[in-house]
Amino acid sequence: MMTTTKLEKTIVALDFSDKNKVQEFLNKFDWEDKAAIKPVFVKLGMELFYSEGPQMIELLKEKGLKIFLDLKVHDIPNTAYGAIKSLCKYGVDIFNVHAGGGIDMMKRAKDAVVDSNADAKLIAVTILTSMDEATLNNELNISGSVNDAVIRLAKNSYSAGMDGIVCSPLEAKIVKENTSSEFLTVCPGVRFSDGDSHDQKRIMTPDAAFENQADYIVMGRAITKAEIPAEALQRLV
Ligand code: C5P
Repeated sequence: MMTTTKLEKTIVALDFSDKNKVQEFLNKFDWEDKAAIKPVFVKLGMELFYSEGPQMIELLKEKGLKIFLDLKVHDIPNTAYGAIKSLCKYGVDIFNVHAGGGIDMMKRAKDAVVDSNADAKLIAVTILTSMDEATLNNELNISGSVNDAVIRLAKNSYSAGMDGIVCSPLEAKIVKENTSSEFLTVCPGVRFSDGDSHDQKRIMTPDAAFENQADYIVMGRAITKAEIPAEALQRLV
């Protein structure tokens, strides 16, 4: 049986403002040598997609990269259905909605994937890592801890037919315990033990994240800002 390598389970976040900067980053890897270490899976977010549009997806696909299109759809169910239907045309591997949009919205988003015959995983964002308990309790009037809120949204996402969620690696195990071992956990907030944590507050190392049942880890700056990105990726394997 073929096992998925840590490199295949590491999604490199391309948080760049335009395609030239992406190209500059990708040019730091050896694309000719099949055996050379290079990204396998990348995350294309709002900044880059809004700036470059769908051509960015084509450019990344030409390199043979798998794509997580991180546009976090959040709207009324009918509009979310239409948005996901449109995104299905691009043939990406993972895309997402906000679990905060509710179960009906997530169900309609899933309908769009099924109606499009798309072979993509649809996952839901739970609580953004930029939010803490005080924000939930005092600003949004959501009582309880971040953990409680993540578990509640994970259960909603699971019952709505999502394929998984975005959560902190610290929450991956408990999410699976409350849903299913098959429910995908895609986890940002990952740093090498000797690396800068930047603005991430709740971090784990790649090995600890995989140990805590993260199916995929999302790593941005620890790779993209490394002097030699291939060496940073090499540390994973
Ligand atoms: O550079 P860094 O590794 O912190 O990048 C993490 C990536 O994951 C960024 O693109 C960020 O927007 C995204 N993300 C996150 N926390 C979430 C959801 C997405 O850090 N809860």
